[in-house]
Amino acid sequence: MKKISLFLMILAVMSCNPSDDAPEPTPELPNVPSEEVLKLPVVVHVLHHGEEEGDGPNLSDEQIIRQIEILNEDFRRKVGTRGFNDHPDGADTQIEFVLATRDPQGNSSSGIIREELVIEDLPENIPNFEFERYAYFSYWNAEDYINIWVAPYPDELTNVLLAKATGPDSGLPGDHLFLKPFAGGAEGIIINWAHFGESDVQGGSNLGRTLTHEMGHYLGLLHTWGTTECETNDYCEDTPAVDKVVVASQPYTGCNGEEVMIANYMNYTPDAVMNIFTNDQAVRMRYVLENSPRRNSLLNSSGI
Ligand SMILES: [Zn+2]
Repeated sequence: MKKISLFLMILAVMSCNPSDDAPEPTPELPNVPSEEVLKLPVVVHVLHHGEEEGDGPNLSDEQIIRQIEILNEDFRRKVGTRGFNDHPDGADTQIEFVLATRDPQGNSSSGIIREELVIEDLPENIPNFEFERYAYFSYWNAEDYINIWVAPYPDELTNVLLAKATGPDSGLPGDHLFLKPFAGGAEGIIINWAHFGESDVQGGSNLGRTLTHEMGHYLGLLHTWGTTECETNDYCEDTPAVDKVVVASQPYTGCNGEEVMIANYMNYTPDAVMNIFTNDQAVRMRYVLENSPRRNSLLNSSGI
């Protein structure tokens, strides 16, 4: 059972395609000079099946606001929270997320949209790509907002289908491994409502780290095992190379006799184990924010 669900998780959660051809050289990332805190606007589209607000997939505002707080605790390595670590390679990424205060028309907004998802309403010409289908119900332009959809998946997909994210065009090695949107099409992050924020859902993904992980992909991070080749891996030198999917909660050895960084957010380890983005990961994300078209424009959004 566990093996089956792990296999499905790998299929479902990975926004990367690990089957790859030629290894690429480790990039020399330009120094990112800016030390300023980068604030990115997010919009949360709660798609539900007609439940009352606060019931089932129609998550309460409180649940959503707390999830964004957790995201910031993790990205900012905030002292006194689960997101803090004192690892020598651990980073405060200097990236923060803010629920949008303006919608695309310039009207004030809470950054939380609620829409009933009626699958029968989907026109036939909508591509069979989950981001496009959800965007039909609710979507703000990806140049100015990070779209996060709370998906009303049925209970049988809890711990099976957690989330997925599109990845950026950055020119960095490895970025071809991401799930990419259609040209100019819908993109963002889709999260199973059961794993959005803190909850008592069993299975280890109940502390809000599913979004932290997917946001890492959205900003250009691969899984720590990357291509599953010890040589290329995730193109971050301070995440020890490992050639297999990392799910374990206990320390073990990966490539080159190095201890695997089980606490890295870009693993499949339980939420309670995760609390590190490394310096190289932070540099990679900030590079993407400086250079990738639909990420860089977020810095000048009028959404916040
Ligand atoms: Zn992933």
